[in-house]
Amino acid sequence: MKINQNYKNLKASYLFSDIAKKTAAYKAQNPDADIIRLGIGDVTLPLCSAVVDAFHKAADEMGVKESFKGYGPEQGYGFLKDAIKDYYKAEDGVTLEADEIFISDGAKSDLGNILDIFAKDNTVLVPDPVYPVYVDTNIMDGRNIVYMNGTAKNNFLPMPDDSVDADLIYLCSPNNPTGAAYNHEQLKAWVDYATKKGAIILFDAAYESFVISKELVRSIYEIEGARNCAIEFCSFSKIAGFTGTRCGWTVVPMELEADGMSLNKMWLRRQTTKFNGVSYPVQLAAAAVFTPEGRAQIAENLAYYRENAKIITAALDELGIWYTGGVNSPYIWLKCPNGMGSWEFFDLLLTKANVVGTPGAGFGAMGEGFFRLTAFGDRERTREATERIKKLFK
Ligand code: PLP
Repeated sequence: MKINQNYKNLKASYLFSDIAKKTAAYKAQNPDADIIRLGIGDVTLPLCSAVVDAFHKAADEMGVKESFKGYGPEQGYGFLKDAIKDYYKAEDGVTLEADEIFISDGAKSDLGNILDIFAKDNTVLVPDPVYPVYVDTNIMDGRNIVYMNGTAKNNFLPMPDDSVDADLIYLCSPNNPTGAAYNHEQLKAWVDYATKKGAIILFDAAYESFVISKELVRSIYEIEGARNCAIEFCSFSKIAGFTGTRCGWTVVPMELEADGMSLNKMWLRRQTTKFNGVSYPVQLAAAAVFTPEGRAQIAENLAYYRENAKIITAALDELGIWYTGGVNSPYIWLKCPNGMGSWEFFDLLLTKANVVGTPGAGFGAMGEGFFRLTAFGDRERTREATERIKKLFK
């Protein structure tokens, strides 16, 4: 028996446990401290009523012989794929075929699982700072990883470099952790680069629902040529608070081919072999997100988070602190004031303002000196946290 030696190359991730430990230690010494957490990437508003009603309906159907459902289609029920198709058409002007959409239990699983259809000797291009899943899933397979640096100078939106050869390219827009989002022109440059290199873009659109600026892109398929070089991952987690409910989707266009093989057919084969689909109640609940009532209700939730982001960015504007994100994203990525390091700033905020955020260094070397705040918190607590930050830095 031999283990997968690549697991020895994984760096232990202590980011969130270190944050929890430091926060708990401070609280133990200062039991009266009223700590506000603006660090989490999880949503806080409950499922909307259209979704809850669909869950009830599905549960009732499952309890009756005539409407009971056993195994469903591995790629997802037609009603949900059609609803997603209509969403793309209405929101992005993008036309998809139902067979190009694969329903899953979330974007994270698909982002990891998609690597099954790619060779292990591919070179992978990954932004830094980055959502750690892209890096670790490739380390597990032993792929060569090349980083593209996000900096304040490029507004944390790295652009293609012709001198770098890559086979798989990860783009996340709007980005976690930086909140930065690509516009049409920038993504066109990425599509052109991928086409020239014969590479595939793995486009993570988990935060697309936060995009409001017209010049920005929600789906990579808004870009000409993307159907020939890109796979898109999306999720109900952030659009509709499904982080605990679990549902997402992946789009693999029919045009994608390599070595005479259709990537769509390969992914279909992979999913039908290793995945038995998402439960019927979850899919019915997910489809309810796209009904007129569901759309109206999630719009209210998104507006709530957007307003939180506005409260945070207004405070940073007032203090003259540099940041990206916040407008088209629930994340605000700020430059630690006075040249402080990420953890130094974390300690200062924790001890002097009793506010917890996420040190940027935890997302990659280029995150050092930066800090992530999120708009997923409670309104009054977010307001209180920003008042404390303002008081501290004024
Ligand atoms: N992609 C990014 C960039 C994320 O930040 C997250 C979750 O935080 C995910 C994917 C995971 O989404 P899901 O909950 O659908 O697995």
